[in-house]
Amino acid sequence: MPVAYDVIVIGLGAMGSAAACHLAQRGTRVLGLDRFTPPHAFGSSHGETRIIREAYFEHPMYVPMVQRAYLLWRALEEQTGTTLLRETGGVMLGTPDSDLVKGALLSAELHQLPHEMLTAIQVRERFPALRPEPDMAAVWEPRAGVLFPDLCITAHLAQARKHGADLHYQECALRWENSSDGIRVVTTNGEYCAAKLIVTAGAGISVLLPELPLRIERQVLFWFDPAGSVSMFAPDCCPVHLWQFDGRRFFYGFPNFGGGVKVAFHHGGAMTTADAVQRDVEDFELEDIRCALRRFVPAADGDLRATSVCLYTNTPDEHFWIDRDPAHPLAVIASACSGHAFKFSPAIGEILADLVQDRRPRFDLSLFARR
Ligand SMILES: Cc1cc2nc3c(=O)[nH]c(=O)nc-3n(C[C@H](O)[C@H](O)[C@H](O)COP(=O)(O)OP(=O)(O)OC[C@H]3O[C@@H](n4cnc5c(N)ncnc54)[C@H](O)[C@@H]3O)c2cc1C
Repeated sequence: MPVAYDVIVIGLGAMGSAAACHLAQRGTRVLGLDRFTPPHAFGSSHGETRIIREAYFEHPMYVPMVQRAYLLWRALEEQTGTTLLRETGGVMLGTPDSDLVKGALLSAELHQLPHEMLTAIQVRERFPALRPEPDMAAVWEPRAGVLFPDLCITAHLAQARKHGADLHYQECALRWENSSDGIRVVTTNGEYCAAKLIVTAGAGISVLLPELPLRIERQVLFWFDPAGSVSMFAPDCCPVHLWQFDGRRFFYGFPNFGGGVKVAFHHGGAMTTADAVQRDVEDFELEDIRCALRRFVPAADGDLRATSVCLYTNTPDEHFWIDRDPAHPLAVIASACSGHAFKFSPAIGEILADLVQDRRPRFDLSLFARR
């Protein structure tokens, strides 16, 4: 007889680890499954750091959710005695009419967030590592900062296990089907039954549910040694920075936490799959990022220290999907990436726990309905 649980969670990365944690803390019998041993470098959550920011240019509806995430990250830090979030401040840079600057300002004003508008000259004076062009402006937000994703996932999983969750690593879910008393999940190791299912498989969702119109996008992360003064990139001096330039190109970077200055483009990568993704980095990709560095952060254009390849799972409009599976109403699917969801993980984990427990989530989820 298959073992019975209240909820099975498929995928224990950013979202699944958080959902398992919330459910276990509520006394639910949870089974979490992952095809690898999280945290790992084969999905969407690796690469040392993730940006958290509050003046959300993508849509003001994300602001209450990120505010909830801040509280939950801090609570998780207290529960686990780990530093997960460092507030470095953040600047969103582009021409004043760019989606990035206009959108960040709209969210900041609507939600009365602490922020400042800066000219290019003011940015150069305040943050010498950053060299915006004269026609650029910036939204500065003091609460933006950095999350350490491996530590975040480890902390959620540790809390889930502490509260009784069964976590099975190196076990791949193959499919699920309705059963007489709930849902049956078939894996590479066996079968399990549960009343409800959460699918948080990241880029693996396109194998489990190939009919969904999701696109898996390859993204390269780069770490450089500073060519100039190292102190310019210290976390106390250099905020996280996100740039929109040449129309709709996006580029972002972090302070140096010891492993070099991390920078990357946001979008613009090749479409791929979780298993077929090219992990080598081509010379033209290195040259492309160096061009952006020379233009906007020239002091970071030193020796290449490391690269890593990561995956975005994009919805057509880049807003998350958090919704029930129409074919299996006992299952909730979260495709929360499009390159910007890590910061929300504990809030999304809480929403997923609410949905499978038929509780009303604390947020308006209309933006996240499957479309
Ligand atoms: C390069 C890059 C930079 C980013 N920068 C930011 C940022 O600065 N700020 C931000 O907020 N967000 C950022 N994001 C987005 C954020 O990292 C993702 O939204 C988030 O990590 C996605 O989490 P997830 O749980 O959906 O996927 P993952 O964390 O990848 O978890 C999915 C898990 O499912 C498992 N799995 C897959 N298939 C199966 C199966 N069949 N059976 C069992 N297990 C399975 C995988 O092994 C994996 O562990 C970035 C993403 C990338 C790639």
